[in-house]
Amino acid sequence: MDYPGNLFVVAAPSGAGKSSLVKALLELDSRVQPSVSHTTRPPRGQEKHGREYFFVSQPEFDAMVAGQAFVEWAHVHGNRYGTSRKAIEERIAEGADVILEIDFQGAIQVKEIFANAVLIFILPPSWEELRSRLERRGEDSAEVIELRLKNAAEEMAQARKFDFVIINELFERALFDLKAVVHAQRLKYAAQRRARADTFHSLNID
Ligand code: 5GP
Repeated sequence: MDYPGNLFVVAAPSGAGKSSLVKALLELDSRVQPSVSHTTRPPRGQEKHGREYFFVSQPEFDAMVAGQAFVEWAHVHGNRYGTSRKAIEERIAEGADVILEIDFQGAIQVKEIFANAVLIFILPPSWEELRSRLERRGEDSAEVIELRLKNAAEEMAQARKFDFVIINELFERALFDLKAVVHAQRLKYAAQRRARADTFHSLNID
């Protein structure tokens, strides 16, 4: 189905800078809306229910899976995360651009359901930089960092399945690239035809 809004899906190994890039894009572009996932992981720090995630219990998550409420869901680092189908469909049907920040398994599943979804993979510039970003972040123990690096190798091998790849070496450059991808989608024929119907009409183009 062709919806008036775009669906962007951003994946990356942890430490590649995905969250900061998406956050900066959302601040700059009010036409892009985040999708809030459901998770069984407990809230961290200042996280609020309904803002970063909908924090749900295992039975609540099971019930959503059984009720086919998710477009996709996955186990990531020992917890379950899912994207609500209804929330996405309603918003892209209204013409909003929605951005999902999910893991690569979820991204690939979303594309199976929303064929027009635009898949964007964020890569770090090198292993050394990925490791030092994870260490600097100070959120994880040495053991968890090793696990994240091991997972990163598997995740990055999936980058070929994505439509766009952004290498986050310099933050501003990567943000420019992300904005360019979003902008390019809005210049597609069908999108322009919808957004600039009067112009098309006056030029006798259908
Ligand atoms: P965190 O717990 O650090 O917020 O997120 C851990 C990982 O889960 C990140 O890679 C994040 O993108 C991913 N994630 C968050 N929400 C979803 C979701 O709805 N589906 C999937 N498949 N992954 C998600």
